[in-house]
Amino acid sequence: MSFSTLGLSKEIIRAVTERGYTKPTPIQMQAIPAVLSGGDLLAGAQTGTGKTASFTLPLLHLLSSDQNNKSTATGYSPIRALILTPTRELAAQVEESVKDYGKYLKLNSMAMFGGVSINPQKQRLRGRVDILVATPGRLLDHVHQRTVNLSNIEVLILDEADRMLDMGFINDIRRILSLLPKQRQNLLFFATFSDKIKTLAAGLLNHPTMIEVARRNVTADTIAQKAYQVDRDRKRQLLAHLIRQDNWYQVLVFTRTKYGADRLVKQLGEDRIQALAIHGNKSQGARTHALAKFKNGSLQVLVATDIAARGLDISELPHVVNFDLPNVPEDYVHRIGRTGRAGANGEAVSLVCVDEYQLLADIEKLIEQRLPLQVVAGFGINPNTKAEPIPNGKQNKQKPRRSKGTARSSKTQSPRKMRVVD
Ligand code: AMP
Repeated sequence: MSFSTLGLSKEIIRAVTERGYTKPTPIQMQAIPAVLSGGDLLAGAQTGTGKTASFTLPLLHLLSSDQNNKSTATGYSPIRALILTPTRELAAQVEESVKDYGKYLKLNSMAMFGGVSINPQKQRLRGRVDILVATPGRLLDHVHQRTVNLSNIEVLILDEADRMLDMGFINDIRRILSLLPKQRQNLLFFATFSDKIKTLAAGLLNHPTMIEVARRNVTADTIAQKAYQVDRDRKRQLLAHLIRQDNWYQVLVFTRTKYGADRLVKQLGEDRIQALAIHGNKSQGARTHALAKFKNGSLQVLVATDIAARGLDISELPHVVNFDLPNVPEDYVHRIGRTGRAGANGEAVSLVCVDEYQLLADIEKLIEQRLPLQVVAGFGINPNTKAEPIPNGKQNKQKPRRSKGTARSSKTQSPRKMRVVD
């Protein structure tokens, strides 16, 4: 199947061809005709599947083939499509795609997010905007200041809706929905289905087409998953050792907290390993700078929290490191999905301390695969260290993990292979 058989206009196909896409991805094959038909859509797809183009291309087609002749007090036609995203980076990336795929069309788009001055956005809103890509908080700031008018929205798209709900945006979303015209097309994209998504979809969508593309197989041969057992306070030394020993570059490291990310960057700096952090407390400028350096290969290590990393178009990385295991096992899947894409070899390494055994067990259950703990020579663990609760995490209902030579201390615990590597 090719893009032209999907019914998209020649201007859109030209832009897509220039991007080097030869055929639609599975989500695009299913979503594009569904959106073009004008109906609502409920689609399950993760970043990396081509989901952005799956809604952007038909949206551009619909808006460009049905020119709206309304005009508002500003003298310009009103905003016709609203795309909501959970993070600033995702808003910026989606709007880039809108611009890129729509470069041969006469449609205007705008990205709107917090962390940057609101005044240039107000200025921009006085001009023509057909497609608005926004994060919920800043959009509501504009609503309160009456600088945006959402009363003519024809198409609403919620991108990564599950993440928006996880981030506590439900009331913001409800408020925004109350400002939109009742008659409109709704597209809801999620990565992981949950009861919350079900409730949101039930209240929002009208007889939607449902699509779910296969979850990427995280146990793909191209991703080598390793778990190293290490003492809590030696994780940083072990990370520096691994990076130096194998001369790793483009390492994406995940920490559980923003504070942890900053502290790790500082400590790696002391080890003369160049690192920058990307998280919610960083200014937009700092985040963009770090991401650009990381992408162009001039930054060795990028340390990120899950929320900040979510939706970033960085993939096919050689190394992803879980400095802390995530509290939510699904985040492990999202994290390691950054590596080993499209046939490239990648390595996902988890540094696991005594506090995290239950989290590791939860991950193993989700991915239906055991991750045998290994010990790096010189980083053997102190068997007397007691597990401590994880700050801001769920309680570690710790079951002791057995390593070679230690007595089994729990009947429920199955033996784990332990290998010393150097
Ligand atoms: P997304 O899932 O939207 O984050 O897209 C992931 C990556 O796939 C982006 O870098 C896109 O540029 C790329 N992509 C999207 N559609 C296609 C396609 N049909 N062929 C090749 N690459 C694509």
